[in-house]
Amino acid sequence: MSIPPRIGFIGLGIMGRAMALNLHKAGFKVSVYNRTRTRTIEFADLGCQVAATPRALAKMCDLVITMVADPAAMDAVMEGPEGVASAFAGGNALLNMSTVSPDYTLALAKKCFTAGVTFLDCPVSGSKGAAEGAQLVILAGGERAAVDRYAPVLKAMGRETVYAGPAPAGTALKLCLNLIVAQLTTALAEAAALGRAQGLDPALIFEALGHNPALNCGYFNLKKENILKREYPPAFPLKHMLKDARFMLAEAAKSSLDLPVTAAVERLMAKSYNSGYGDKDLSVVLANLEEPLGARKE
Ligand code: NAP
Repeated sequence: MSIPPRIGFIGLGIMGRAMALNLHKAGFKVSVYNRTRTRTIEFADLGCQVAATPRALAKMCDLVITMVADPAAMDAVMEGPEGVASAFAGGNALLNMSTVSPDYTLALAKKCFTAGVTFLDCPVSGSKGAAEGAQLVILAGGERAAVDRYAPVLKAMGRETVYAGPAPAGTALKLCLNLIVAQLTTALAEAAALGRAQGLDPALIFEALGHNPALNCGYFNLKKENILKREYPPAFPLKHMLKDARFMLAEAAKSSLDLPVTAAVERLMAKSYNSGYGDKDLSVVLANLEEPLGARKE
C-alpha cells in the first residue's frame, strides 16, 4: 500500500463511528455514508465528505469499508442501483467488518472476485471501548497478500490482526469468539441472578472473581456496572448477538454438530429480544432471568 487509499466508510453505528474516527485521526482521507444522515454530521464537521448514496461513496474511493448491522443491512448498502456493487470497478477493494454469516461472506467474496475487486473478510473482536481506543482484534479472512497490503488501515482501528485463512475464515473465527462472549455474558447474568436468589449482593461475585487470577476476566469487568446497576446501555446490542448465535447454530447444523449451551443461550436471548430489549446491551438477559424474583424491568 504505497499510496494511502481513499477510504469510504459505511455504517456509523456504535462500532463504525469509532472506527471511522480512528481512520480519520490516523490521517486517512475518509468519506462516509450512513443510512441515518444525522450520524454523518460530526464527520462533515471534521472535513470528511459525506456521500448521498453507497454508490456515490464507492465512486469517490479506492477502498470501501462496511460496518453495518447484518446481512439485510449489507444487502441494502451493496445491492440495487444506488448500492456499492453498482460502482465496483477493477482495482477497488471491499473490506467488510460487519458480522454476517459465513455463507454471506463467501457469496460476497465470489461477487468481488468476479468484479475484479479485492475482498477482505475482517470482522472484529472487541466492543465499543476497544473500537474507540483502536484496540480491536481484527479477525482477517481473504488473500494473505491483500490483508498484508491493507495492514496500515487495519492498524488504525485495531491492536492486532489474526489471519485466519481465505474468506470466510475471518467470519468463521468471529463466530467462535462470539460463542464464548455469549456464554460468558449469560454465565455472569445467571450467577448474579442465583446470587440474588440466595440473598447475596452480586458485588461479592465480582469481588471474589477479582481475587482469583484464573477467573479474573477482563470481559466480566466490562459488564460489571450493567449487572450491578441493572442498567444496560448498549455496547453490544442484544439483537446483534442473537443474530450471531443463530449463525453459530446454523453453521453447526451443517456438520450435525450439537451446541446445546449455545442453543440455550439463543433461546434466552430470543426471549429477551421478544421482551423488547433488542437495542439494549446483551447483558440485559439478566432482566429476563430475574423476572421470577420480582426485579424491576428495565
Ligand atoms: P449498530 O450500532 O446497531 O449500527 C448498525 C449500523 O448499520 C448503523 O450505521 C445502521 O444505520 C446500519 N444499518 C442497519 N440496518 C441498515 C439498513 N437496512 N440499511 C443501511 N444501513 C443499515 O451496530 P454496531 O454495534 O456498530 O455493530 C455493527 C456490526 O458489528 C454488527 O454486525 C455487529 O454484530 C458487529 N459487532 C458489534 C460489536 C459491538 O460490541 N457493538 C462488536 C463486534 C462486532 P443507521 O444509523 O441508519 O441505523
